[in-house]
Amino acid sequence: MRQLIRKLVETHGPSGAEEQIRAVIRAEVEPLADELRVDPLGSLVARKKGNGDGQRIVLDAHMDEIGVMVTYVDERGFARFTRIGGVRAITCVGARVAFADGTTGVIGVEGKQKDASKIPQFDQLYMDVGATDRDDCPVHVGDAAAFVRPFTAQGTRLIAKAMDDRIGCAVLIETLRQLERTPHDVYFVFAVQEETTLSGARTSTYGIDPDLAIAVDVTTTGDTPESRPMAVELGKGPAVKVQDSGMIAHPKVRDLLVEKAEEAGIPYQLEVLERGTTDAAAMQLVRAGVPSGCLSIPCRYVHTPSEMVDESDVGNGVQLLLEVLRSA
Ligand SMILES: [Zn+2]
Repeated sequence: MRQLIRKLVETHGPSGAEEQIRAVIRAEVEPLADELRVDPLGSLVARKKGNGDGQRIVLDAHMDEIGVMVTYVDERGFARFTRIGGVRAITCVGARVAFADGTTGVIGVEGKQKDASKIPQFDQLYMDVGATDRDDCPVHVGDAAAFVRPFTAQGTRLIAKAMDDRIGCAVLIETLRQLERTPHDVYFVFAVQEETTLSGARTSTYGIDPDLAIAVDVTTTGDTPESRPMAVELGKGPAVKVQDSGMIAHPKVRDLLVEKAEEAGIPYQLEVLERGTTDAAAMQLVRAGVPSGCLSIPCRYVHTPSEMVDESDVGNGVQLLLEVLRSA
C-alpha cells in the first residue's frame, strides 16, 4: 500500500479544490467498482453491489486536506491568507505551500515581532511567492494552497502531510480492492470539505440513504511527551470511536466493530476524542438519522505538515472493515 499512500498524500486537494485528488482516487477505484459517480458537491462515490439481501452501507473517508487561502496581496507582492480548516500559526512558520498550478509559497513572520521565543499570531504571517509587486504576483485573492512535504517511511512509521485523511482514502481503496464478495450494497464515499463543514459526507449520505455508515479518519494519540492523557497509541490497532466532540458513536455500530475485531483476533483500541470530530457526526444526522460510527487510524501531529501513522494500524483497519463487510 505504500506506493498508493505516497500518491494520495502528495496530491494537492485543500477543501473546496479537490479536483486533483479526486482524479487520482478515481483512477484507482474505477476498475474495482460496479458504479462510479461524482455527487453535485464533488464527492466521489464508488459502489460495490451486494450479492445477497444485506444492508446498504456507507464507508466514508474525506479526500480534502487543510490548507490556506489568499485574502489580500500587497503592493510588494506579498500575500496574506486565512485558514482552510484547523491550521495553527506555529506549524506555518517556514512551511511551504503549493497552489493547484504548482506555484510555491513560503510562509514568513512579520519582522516587527522582536521576541523570537513568542509564538506568532496568525495575522502576523504572510506568504512570499517570489513576486516583486502586486501585478506580477502569480496568486490571487481566493486561491487555495496546501502544505508541501514528501512522504517518508521509517520502519513501520509512515510520515507525510495530509495523512488526515488520505490514509482513510487508502484504507477504503484497499478494502474495495480486497472485497471480492459481500452480501451488502456498499458505497465507498470519498468526501469533499470535511475540514471546513463536513458537507460532502452529509449530502452524499442523504443521496444514498444507507442503513449504516462508518467514517474512516485519523484520531490523535496520547503517546508523545507530556501529551494530553488519551488511551490511544500508535501501532496498537485501529481505534473504534466511542465519542468525540461532535458525536457519540451509535452503540450498535461501535459494538459491531468491536465484535468483529475480537472474532478475527484483530487488535483494536477504544477512542474517546475530546477535541475534534469526523464526517460520522454529519452522517448520523441525515434524514431521520443514520446509525453511524467511526474507525480511526491513530495519528501523531494531526494538522501539521508531518502527520505520523503506523503501517500496522492501516493494515488492521482494512482487515477489520473486510470482516464487517463479509458477514451478514
Ligand atoms: Zn482533519
